[in-house]
Amino acid sequence: MTALQPARGTRDLIGEDFRRHHKVAETARRISALYGFEEWATPIFEDTRVFSRGLGDTSDVVSKEMYTFTDRGGESVTLRPEATAGLCRALVSNGLTQSNLPRKVFYTGPMFRYERPQKGRYRQFHQIDIEVMGAAEPLSDAEVIACGWHILQELGVAGATVLEINTLGDTPSRDAYRAALIAYFSAHRDALSHDSRVRLEKNPLRILDSKDETDRAIVAGAPTIAAHLTPEAAEFYASVRRHLDRFGVPFRENPRIVRGLDYYSHTAFEFVTDQLGAQGTVMGGGRYNGLVEEMGGPPTPCVGWAAGVERLAMLLPEAPSAPRPVAVIPVGDAAEAPALDLLQALRRAGVTAEIAYRGNLKRRMERANRIGARAAVIIGDEEIAAGVAQLRDLDAGTQEKVPLAEVPGRLA
Ligand code: ATP
Ligand code: MG
Repeated sequence: MTALQPARGTRDLIGEDFRRHHKVAETARRISALYGFEEWATPIFEDTRVFSRGLGDTSDVVSKEMYTFTDRGGESVTLRPEATAGLCRALVSNGLTQSNLPRKVFYTGPMFRYERPQKGRYRQFHQIDIEVMGAAEPLSDAEVIACGWHILQELGVAGATVLEINTLGDTPSRDAYRAALIAYFSAHRDALSHDSRVRLEKNPLRILDSKDETDRAIVAGAPTIAAHLTPEAAEFYASVRRHLDRFGVPFRENPRIVRGLDYYSHTAFEFVTDQLGAQGTVMGGGRYNGLVEEMGGPPTPCVGWAAGVERLAMLLPEAPSAPRPVAVIPVGDAAEAPALDLLQALRRAGVTAEIAYRGNLKRRMERANRIGARAAVIIGDEEIAAGVAQLRDLDAGTQEKVPLAEVPGRLA
């Protein structure tokens, strides 16, 4: 049989690749906890209706990219393409919509989209994600953005990104803007891509997000929402910007940002980079006030973001290093028992320690070097008799006798 390959658009995470991913997720977990976010885990697959909520769906994610299938019981299920909808579903299913709001949730895990694989774009990828569920105040918009910025800073990638923000207004603002967009794009209808002509009927805002070259040229001349904002929506947006200034988060306004999913209102934002080619958005999010209601819950205003772990992992300035182990090396049969005792004493003391399963002193030293050990602890008959071990610093090349009981303390 020919050797099997990973499925198209999926990747194995091994060694440095895994450590990069782990660093992104761990940093996001740690920093978001400082902002009061608690971690949730929801299922990887959901009832398809969690993601696809009727004919109004015009986003690429829902209309073209979902891994949807009928299971053996005849139910339509979907491998989640994003975390937000599942979290809102969980808020409702678990009866959490009335008490203790807002809920501040951190999430990380794999997501699935049927896309054309390329650098920074996969069919199974990973996201980190935070959501504030049940807060309508612009301070919550600014806080989630500040938390995202803090995570990017902690990862050492903030300098490689720019924060772009926009407002999609409230419903009256968006209705007025929608009419203006329909008028504008209808005048250019014949030049639009097929997809965008469909969007023109269903959700003209979507055209602003088109990746098609000709569409983009037309989008460049489209009206912006500014002239259509109600005073309340304009004040909301101004308030978000004031809070961002107070939090010390630099941003640039970009009236073209609408985001990839259909459910946003008021704030929309993206952290973009010019270092990943076409896959330039590393983190994106905004306010979505109708989603919990669409899941069958009460009106619950929410704001949050998701970031691509693969893209952030690629941006990390340096690869996180693996802990360097200590190699415990018994010489002769009698040394095995005290070597195993020492091995566990080291691990109990928090020291990464390894023992080769077989081999003479030479072989074991070779392996210690191969696994990048920082030290070797060698025990033979003489050492057992004296109650010591030879402690060899493999970087300095020095060696000394240390009483057995003191070895873990010396290496911790
Ligand atoms: P893009 O415009 O790159 O397709 P998107 O708008 O579809 O992104 P979101 O749905 O907002 O992305 O997801 C949030 C983040 O998840 C993106 O900014 C990106 O970093 C990451 N992401 C999205 N799709 C993929 C993918 N197929 N492979 C890797 N990362 C992805
Ligand atoms: Mg996409």
